[in-house]
Amino acid sequence: MTSPADPPVHGVEDVRTAVEQARSAGRSWAALGHRGRRTALLGWKHAVARRTDEFAGLIASETGKPLHDARAEVLLTLVHLDWAARNARRVLGRRRVSSGLLSVHQRALLSYRPLGVVGVIGPWNYPLYTPMGSIGYALAAGNAVVFKPSELTPGVGILLARSFGEAVPDHAGLLRTITGPASTGAALAGADGPTGLDKVAFTGSPGTARRVAAACAATLTPLLAECGGKDAVLVAADADLDAAADAIVWGAMGNAGQTCAGVERVYAVASVHEELCARVVSRARVLAPGEAYGPLTLPSQLDVVRRHVKQALQDGGRAVLGGPDAPRTRTVAPVVLTGVPEDSPAVTEETFGPVVVVNAVRDMAEAVERANASAYSLGAAVFTRSRAAGLAVAGRLDSGAVSVNSVLGFAAVPSLPFGGAGESGYGRIHGEEGLRAFAAPHSVTVRRFAPAVDLTSFATPRTAAARAVELGRRLHARF
Ligand code: NAD
Repeated sequence: MTSPADPPVHGVEDVRTAVEQARSAGRSWAALGHRGRRTALLGWKHAVARRTDEFAGLIASETGKPLHDARAEVLLTLVHLDWAARNARRVLGRRRVSSGLLSVHQRALLSYRPLGVVGVIGPWNYPLYTPMGSIGYALAAGNAVVFKPSELTPGVGILLARSFGEAVPDHAGLLRTITGPASTGAALAGADGPTGLDKVAFTGSPGTARRVAAACAATLTPLLAECGGKDAVLVAADADLDAAADAIVWGAMGNAGQTCAGVERVYAVASVHEELCARVVSRARVLAPGEAYGPLTLPSQLDVVRRHVKQALQDGGRAVLGGPDAPRTRTVAPVVLTGVPEDSPAVTEETFGPVVVVNAVRDMAEAVERANASAYSLGAAVFTRSRAAGLAVAGRLDSGAVSVNSVLGFAAVPSLPFGGAGESGYGRIHGEEGLRAFAAPHSVTVRRFAPAVDLTSFATPRTAAARAVELGRRLHARF
């Protein structure tokens, strides 16, 4: 995995300067209004689309993922940037809301204003798509952004800021990338003292999220935390097993399993469990590691993958494909495990490798119970031929998003919010919530006429005010 020439290691003073410069660039961006920002952001989108090969080449060389995956990541990014640019005005622009009977004399207006400067701290597994879930939406909401990419993928962050400056030269300093290791991220989050950020959007592991949250707490800086996952696929007795097996293998092995909402657990009802395992194995067996997916990007992840597989087998699980020797080098061959106890790390912890546990359950009720028992709660999927049953199961799953008869279906729908609970973090990116995450509601009333009884004036006779209050009370007491 290679990055362009050594990127600088930015410290707290660089971070403060970047935030200050971003804030000053942000003033004219906020003043540009929704229409102007939409035009500028769509211009940037066109530029990124035209430079897809450059972005994809850099993503591939820094993460090790195949070029075709990197190109798909660029496309997903474009889809979200397009949606954020086109929908910001509708979602955040000023609109009239009902003022209610008590305030019928008031016109009530609601709008959402930019927060100011948003600090975005990103991971390496989808170094463009993931941080852009915050960056694109924050910019569309009228903010400036200081972006700290993962130290494994600094080049993508640098190219992103450069491409914005070239496509939107009038607002060149609005998106700034700072580079460096954990200490640079810590400085941006405020661990070394206030930096003046108005919000932090963090994507990474839950352990780091806790440190970022602690730093943000000191300055009461709001935080959006997108962390890991241990997503489950639930397979009903009537499911199309070929479709389920195909999706499970792609969801578990794609990007070498390094996807926050990738498939790590499968719960299949007992009557189809064996057949599903056979179909998963026959598909996973023919994948060529290194071609179908790349190596583990983070060298230390190999130890985690080895430990999970080894412990699962010691705990009584069975390898139906691969085994303890599969994770030999960072280009790991697929591993399919079954019968793994629910308290084994391969079931409870994020593995982040091409490993999937396919366990049998009595029925879908048990599948839901087990899927929900995880400390993580990000995404999930259900396979069944009955749409009604699929929706019913989806409604009982605690995860932030569910796909019926596909995996990760929600990730490519920009109008759907994405995020989780528990160890998966809090807050939402994408969709309307993803725009509002980077905006502050602004409420305005405009008095239209003098009310018959003005409850906000000392000039109103007490008896008239008391009668009006009593009338209102009675109305509410009736319903
Ligand atoms: P990580 O937590 O190691 O690092 C994430 C970022 O935080 C990096 O830029 C890093 O330099 C920075 N950082 C490290 N220590 C810091 C500190 N003390 N203060 C501030 N910043 C600090 O995570 P990673 O290994 O880069 O990414 C993998 C994780 O990200 C996985 O758990 C994966 O599931 C998760 N992820 C989640 C989503 C999602 O949307 N929910 C998307 C992609 C990845």
